[in-house]
Amino acid sequence: MNKKPFLMISALMAITLLSGCGQHNHDWGETTYTWANDYSTCTAERVCKGDNNHKETETVSTTYQEITAPTCVNDGKGRYSAGFTSEAFVDQTKDVVLNHLGHSYGAPTYTWSNDNKTCTAKRICTRDASHIEEETVNSTYQVVTPATVEADGSATYTATFTNDAFVLQTKNITLPKDVYATKPHLSADGKTVQYGLYPQKNVNDSSLVSELNKITEPKTNGWYLYNDEYYAKTVAKPNNDSYEFDDGTPIEKDETYWFKCEPIVWNVLSNNEGEYYLVSSTLLDVHQYDDDKNSYDESSIRSWLNDDFFNSAFALGNDNIFETTVDNSAATTDSEDNTYACDDTLDYVFMPSYKDYQNTDYGFAPTTIDSDSRCCRTTDWARARGAFSENEATPNYNGNGYYWTRSPYSGQSDVTWCVGHYGTLYTHEGSEVDCKENSVRPAINIFFE
Ligand SMILES: [Zn+2]
Ligand SMILES: [Zn+2]
Repeated sequence: MNKKPFLMISALMAITLLSGCGQHNHDWGETTYTWANDYSTCTAERVCKGDNNHKETETVSTTYQEITAPTCVNDGKGRYSAGFTSEAFVDQTKDVVLNHLGHSYGAPTYTWSNDNKTCTAKRICTRDASHIEEETVNSTYQVVTPATVEADGSATYTATFTNDAFVLQTKNITLPKDVYATKPHLSADGKTVQYGLYPQKNVNDSSLVSELNKITEPKTNGWYLYNDEYYAKTVAKPNNDSYEFDDGTPIEKDETYWFKCEPIVWNVLSNNEGEYYLVSSTLLDVHQYDDDKNSYDESSIRSWLNDDFFNSAFALGNDNIFETTVDNSAATTDSEDNTYACDDTLDYVFMPSYKDYQNTDYGFAPTTIDSDSRCCRTTDWARARGAFSENEATPNYNGNGYYWTRSPYSGQSDVTWCVGHYGTLYTHEGSEVDCKENSVRPAINIFFE
């Protein structure tokens, strides 16, 4: 385009008179004006009607002026002007369309919602900030690595846009490790679940003990919080003077000890599409079954499990536990005619039955005799609180305790079935309901995906 300033142009005058004047008075026809293809010049011409060899022409450079600027979406208008020196010719203008420019978008920006459930893509026209293209989409969510009790996990949100101008966005987030096991965490091999918290391991770090001794106010459950870990203390009442904690520290009677509250590890007995039947992998505490009777529905151990234990172990999260209809029928005991069998109960926490502990589907040996499948170790906590803990056997069995089943023995009203330190199901001495040295091995049903 030729856009010379108006004053700069010098009209190119080329009046051509091709024949002698005066032969006649010219009788001029209509002037024609012809624009160059690029509108840079305009030529005026008139021809004598009396003699078409008589012509007057003038070619001038044009000036250009923008009348209306084109925008992103609207065409503009430009105007070429031709000014002739000959008075015979009339100044001419030619308007041209200036095609609209289209948007000139800047780089897109992407904004995630606070909950990462949606992502908004946006781009703004550099010519006009009111020209905005925007698209908000719902994201998809995928866990990449599940969080565990020990380690953070990760997950990714992905946002896919329909507008080709926007590219797929991903946002990685950290799933914080669940140090208190407020949710169930299944092990990689599917054999154990960590869920709930309970005092277990003796604290033998003397500087930590002295820090713990300075804390006066307990938090949850009478537990004490220090550096984001929970601790509990108890005055030791060991069942035997020769008992030791797992690290070899002798347990002194009437001494106060601190214990770290750790995630409870449960053995998976069955998994039915996310419904898990779990039994504790350790003997977590000690409690007598009852004062005098072996009827589970009225037993003090049942109250303790569903009140004290439940409210302690799951104080920080219990959403996945569901109430179990516990089968207390005679069929779950040693005799179909067991007159001490009681009605079914509805419990959050209970104990496996005599029959459960012989169920091969749960991984237990099908007989009542010694079996490692039923052996279970006492925790430091249970040992300090008076649980029997084997310490004279071969090393593999040291630390194992005796523990209750929920099942009454058919032969006597104050005796239940128990499991011994070699995994024997027994009813001999020590399985009377008021025995104070038998441990508790809780069981729960939970649901999670
Ligand atoms: Zn003429
Ligand atoms: Zn625009």
